[in-house]
Parts: sequence; C-alpha cells; structure tokens
Amino acid sequence: MAKDYNIRKTSGQCSECETQLEPGTEFTATVSEGQDELIRNDYCDKCAESLSEEATKAVLCKWRTVVPHPEEKKKLLVSNDLLVNLFERLSDSEEPSKINFRYVLALVLMRKKILIYDRMGVNDEGQEVWSMHFKGAGPEPEEQLVIDPKLDEDQIAEVSDSLGEIMEGDFQ
Ligand SMILES: [Zn+2]
Repeated sequence: MAKDYNIRKTSGQCSECETQLEPGTEFTATVSEGQDELIRNDYCDKCAESLSEEATKAVLCKWRTVVPHPEEKKKLLVSNDLLVNLFERLSDSEEPSKINFRYVLALVLMRKKILIYDRMGVNDEGQEVWSMHFKGAGPEPEEQLVIDPKLDEDQIAEVSDSLGEIMEGDFQ
C-alpha cells in the first residue's frame, strides 16, 4: 500500500499569520477534513478568534494546547472526548485514508475500554465491518460501524504515527 495517510501536520507556527509559536505558548489546534486528508492547523489566539466561516465548517475537532518544550517527552495531550469526537465525525467518510484513521481510532478507543467490540459483519461492498458500541451507552446502545481496512501491523503502526502527529500523542 502506498503511503496515503495524507496529513498536514503542525509546523510550530500559526497557520494563518505564520507567527512562530514559542514553547510554553497556549494556542488552538484543529483537525480539519480535506479532500482525502486530515489537516492539522495551529492558530494563535488572535487568529483563532477570527477564523473564516469556511475554515470553521471544515473543523472536525478543536482543542487548546501548549507548545511543548523540545526536551519534553511526547505524551497524549488530547482528551478521550476529542478522540471519540473525531471517531464520530469520520463515520461517513469513504476515502481510504480516513477509513484507516477511523479504524485505528477504534483500536485506540477499544484499548482504552471506551469502545466495545460486538461482532463482525460484511457490508454491501463486501468489506468486513465491525459492530461496536460505546461503553455506558445504556441498554440499547447505538451501533457504531467500523470498516476493517485489513491493515497489517506495519500499516497500523504507520497510521498510528500519523494520528499521533496530528493529535499530539503516542498512539502506538
Ligand atoms: Zn495567527
């Protein structure tokens, strides 16, 4: 498989005004939906307040974070809610890279015991689909369908890396 987990990751500067974001600075991070990619944008406070309507519409999730100091160890900075949010927002995506992202998100959420695996099925396209539900979603939880893109271990590691880069964390 070609390397098609298209992400545009953070560059340490504001995506809008290109101001350098220094270590220790608080800023707003977003992940937006591109054509066949997820786009990470960082915004200084001033630009975060005046995002265009178009940019706001494409945002899948948004959080406040701090520019890490170079010596800081990589750790998961985003909340579980954000991961769940991204997982839900990608549910209608048909692009392979987004299906892969969603699958790896499902693995992460399963490891965190937030998402529970129920059974496997096959959709109209012949793809294997996992039926899952969120823990604590009541006696009749909403079914969460996750396409299994049949990634091997290396591919999962690659998608996890990409996810870690846009969501600021270690997903391995
Ligand atoms: Zn800015």
